[in-house]
Amino acid sequence: MPLIIKDEYPEVLFREDGKRLDGREKNELRPIKMEVGVIKNADGSAYLEWGDNKIFAAVYGPREVHPHHLAKPDRGILRVFYRMATFSVFDRKRPAPGRREKEISMIISDCIEPILFLELYPGTSFEVFIEVINADGGTRCASTTVAALALADAGIPMKSLVSAVAVGKIDGKIVVDLSGIEDKAGEADLPCAITWYNKEISLLQFDGDMDLNEMSEFLDLAKDALGRIHQIQLEVLKSKFLTIQEKSDEIIVNKENQGES
Ligand code: UDP
Repeated sequence: MPLIIKDEYPEVLFREDGKRLDGREKNELRPIKMEVGVIKNADGSAYLEWGDNKIFAAVYGPREVHPHHLAKPDRGILRVFYRMATFSVFDRKRPAPGRREKEISMIISDCIEPILFLELYPGTSFEVFIEVINADGGTRCASTTVAALALADAGIPMKSLVSAVAVGKIDGKIVVDLSGIEDKAGEADLPCAITWYNKEISLLQFDGDMDLNEMSEFLDLAKDALGRIHQIQLEVLKSKFLTIQEKSDEIIVNKENQGES
């Protein structure tokens, strides 16, 4: 049987019609779908499909800190656990959390911490568990985005949402939202996140080769994409609250009708 090597990199990342290999324009995001309230056992949860990325986030808190020695007397703590399932990628991914997962957990925590009021919750913890079920590039950004949504779903007071996306360079052209293959075969990858209450960048990583003059082009493209991602997050939350309102209106009307009869 021939050995199948799925991860061979293509030589060019643009088609003859000028579009990317998956048919996208340079500034086009992959299709994004988000949902909240998907995990019954969590205080808040969200699910996201972003291209071929499939990610769950579950939130607990504020609750007692385990292990106790991590508790801080003057503020709450935020703990983020990003995990990629062994079946989420083509290669054999070790089941135990590796250095990459620890690094990404830390990055996501740094992105989210500024939007919380941890000083109001001394001695407690907020925990965010992220499970990547399928990975195809940009999982740290997708995980940050879905984690913010799960925190909002839990009703935890927040200054705003945070949204994240990676911009990058492939075949010399600047593009938004790199797929797995573009991430690996491209020249540069720049994941970034924004906290909306102050419009500040809360994550800016960089991997690859880039001319410094290109930086503002990267950031303009990212800003535009981040705005679109934020809109999707807001719409998901709005539709959750509209559903709650419709249900409570229905209960009130039913009670009124029962009282009349
Ligand atoms: N990836 C993989 N095996 C691994 C880790 C990552 O195949 O053990 C893939 C996965 O599709 C991931 C992509 O490589 O999304 C890029 O990984 P990176 O570390 O750049 O993080 P990400 O772009 O997901 O934030």
